[in-house]
Amino acid sequence: MPRVLHAASELFPLVKTGGLADVAAALPPALARNGVDARVLVPGYPAVMAAAERMEPVARLADRFGAGQAWLLAGTLRDVGVRAYVIDAPDLFDRPGGPYSDEHGHERRDNWARFALLGRAAADLAAGADPAWRPDIVHAHDWQAGLAPAYMRADGTIGVASLITVHNLAYQGNSPPSVFDRLGLPAGYFTVEGAEFYGQVSYLKAGLMFADRISTVSRTYAEEIQTQEGGFGLDGVLRARSGVLSGIVNGIDTNVWDPARDLHLPTSYSRHAMAGKAVARRTLAAELGIAPPPRGPIFGVVSRLTPLKGLDLLLAAVDELIAADGALALLGAGDAELEAYFLAAQDRHPGRIGVRLGYDEALAHRIIAGCDIVLVPSRAEPCGLTQLYGLRYGSLPLVRRTGGLADTVVNADPADRAAGTATGFVFDDATPEALAGTLAWAAELFADQQAWQAMQQTAMAVPVGWDRAARDYAALYAGMLA
Ligand code: ADP
Repeated sequence: MPRVLHAASELFPLVKTGGLADVAAALPPALARNGVDARVLVPGYPAVMAAAERMEPVARLADRFGAGQAWLLAGTLRDVGVRAYVIDAPDLFDRPGGPYSDEHGHERRDNWARFALLGRAAADLAAGADPAWRPDIVHAHDWQAGLAPAYMRADGTIGVASLITVHNLAYQGNSPPSVFDRLGLPAGYFTVEGAEFYGQVSYLKAGLMFADRISTVSRTYAEEIQTQEGGFGLDGVLRARSGVLSGIVNGIDTNVWDPARDLHLPTSYSRHAMAGKAVARRTLAAELGIAPPPRGPIFGVVSRLTPLKGLDLLLAAVDELIAADGALALLGAGDAELEAYFLAAQDRHPGRIGVRLGYDEALAHRIIAGCDIVLVPSRAEPCGLTQLYGLRYGSLPLVRRTGGLADTVVNADPADRAAGTATGFVFDDATPEALAGTLAWAAELFADQQAWQAMQQTAMAVPVGWDRAARDYAALYAGMLA
């Protein structure tokens, strides 16, 4: 069994700001079911230390980066289904606030030190810091763990391979050049061939340059980040390393997102017993004050409201949505301007548009289940989760062809419908016209309920859980060790 150490700065349910936390928590147990001995390494934030129930010190960490007294602990964390290593370094991690920001929302000024220690500790484990368990592979996630492959290379660690996964290329962990001298890396590593990025130190670039392999969260995103448009300045690096770059789509937690067991729904349903979906639709319409259109679909959106999510396109196409006899159920939070525009759209189309602002897990489930079509018009989307929820719940996704959306939704063109492989609707151009045309087309298809139900059956059978992703990672690891 290959031993794989995941180095991550977030871990659900203890510390989460984004999807990285879900991956760090869900992937290792899924790997264990697929023949991989996976463990996770996380910083000892207060929430992590509070969950450290049975943890033993395995190694004392050298006093680096202002960490002072620091220990590497090993054991189990409450509510985490994988064995964990915790960096117990109170001077760096025992602070109120979030993992990257203080309690006032200001980014911490010594994040360079905190995440240098994460990379350093991963490399220490690769070098044998725990005599009882040494990884064959260090799997670093995002910039926060990006220095791990650099330290492994600098240490001359042999027999341990490294992989870095990019969850979102926009976050790169860049610091002023003076930081480099404090990292304990060879001077030669601060060059274009190493961690140097336009004069700064980039932890992500270090990972991209020094890791044996690079992966990202969908195949299409792996292509897009090699272009100037999607590369955030790192496209050249990624093109140079394209031979070791691959994409694996994330899974969703099918214990939480399963219409047959979803406690947020009025009635459960499944592929074989769909009556509960009609109940979910009626209940949702009532909850949001929508009169369910007699023949048209309810479009559902659960999203952060940011320009990258393409919801300004939806605003510009909302009249066409209504004209196609559609209704809209939207839950979102974010950009104040977008929030105001959606409330105004609701006022303009009473009974057809229901908007809720804020973060509401339960309502998110009821929208995904109760709508007919999950809308995800993103400009960019490394992987995306809500379209996967939509597949699982028989709420056919309507998405823009980008990133993980392109990889997970099969457009309802005639050939794929005939072959029984179509699962949703895909449009190309990030324009209101392209979206409006596809909305109208989907609404037309919705009127043919027999065809619609056939597509729902296909969508709901698509494997979207973590086991599929884990098998792909296990194959990637096997290739690295061969
Ligand atoms: P991103 O990570 O870019 O926001 P994803 O689609 O990968 O996009 O993940 C978004 C996650 O956050 C999904 O699980 C979605 O259900 C959830 N979510 C987003 N906005 C809300 C909201 N307002 N209320 C509840 N859940 C939300």
